[in-house]
Amino acid sequence: MGAKTGSEARQERIAALGYDYAAKPIRRTRRCNLCGGDRFVTVTHRDRYGYPATADGCLRCGLVFLNPAMTAGAYAEFYTDVYRPLVSAYHGRLIDAESIQDEQRDYASARADFIEPRMRESGCKTLLDVGGSTGVVAHVMKERFDLLATVIDPAPLEIEVARALGLKTVTGFVEDYDSGGATYDFIVLCQTVDHLLDVSLSLSKIRNLISEEGLFFVDIVDFRAAYRRNSSVEEAIKIDHPYYLTDETMRAYLARSGLDVLGIDYAADHLHVGYLCKPGRQVPDALPDPGFVNDQWREIRAIQNPLP
Ligand SMILES: [Zn+2]
Repeated sequence: MGAKTGSEARQERIAALGYDYAAKPIRRTRRCNLCGGDRFVTVTHRDRYGYPATADGCLRCGLVFLNPAMTAGAYAEFYTDVYRPLVSAYHGRLIDAESIQDEQRDYASARADFIEPRMRESGCKTLLDVGGSTGVVAHVMKERFDLLATVIDPAPLEIEVARALGLKTVTGFVEDYDSGGATYDFIVLCQTVDHLLDVSLSLSKIRNLISEEGLFFVDIVDFRAAYRRNSSVEEAIKIDHPYYLTDETMRAYLARSGLDVLGIDYAADHLHVGYLCKPGRQVPDALPDPGFVNDQWREIRAIQNPLP
């Protein structure tokens, strides 16, 4: 018997978790979360872990999303018990709230460099980190820009670590958050938007929480970059991400939410794209260019069927 290949060993590690994705409760999307369109094309039938996850694309705007996706309850269980062990099994090394801290500090410091010129002239005093996990990013921003920082995250164990760093904390989802009328000068949504269950609702909630002269930073894993670098659409799909954003779909989301883009940052990993925004006027019918949408389907088919 020959030695196991890397990919066989990975499949064994994932199988050993015993997570039965196909048995989880699901919800089906009938209307595109970005544009409200109702005509979809299925682009993949499994994800990078090998789970039978179907991703659809909206024919009108090009947004790609899991459909069906797990219910909010199933995702809550997923983040409590499965998410970190699954990502560890995939990469073949331990990835948990502790081990990601160094990586997150470097990530935060690079984002702070990008934001700094605008931040210096902004007079921002308060920060809200949405989906801020253990608070590493909020802590770096707080120290760099002298901000009063609050972290909101649904995971109680991660929020506990954030609190120990001296940050204000809220356990829960931003969609349900009642700030009691308070607004924030600077809101960040870092490495989180692809994990949300309703991007449109979350962005409109965030828009209402930003003070008049405030700033907002969000970044995406650029879906197009992810499938091109792996030469595989399936490798770019993972059950942890209900949404697969591109520069074009993210800009349409921001325009519809009334967030004007001040600057764009292509991260050094060539995968993440960051947007620094300020509150502006809503453009409720903003859409990606139809040429882009058609090119995306053509490119996906070419990646799935390379010439010999
Ligand atoms: Zn759409």
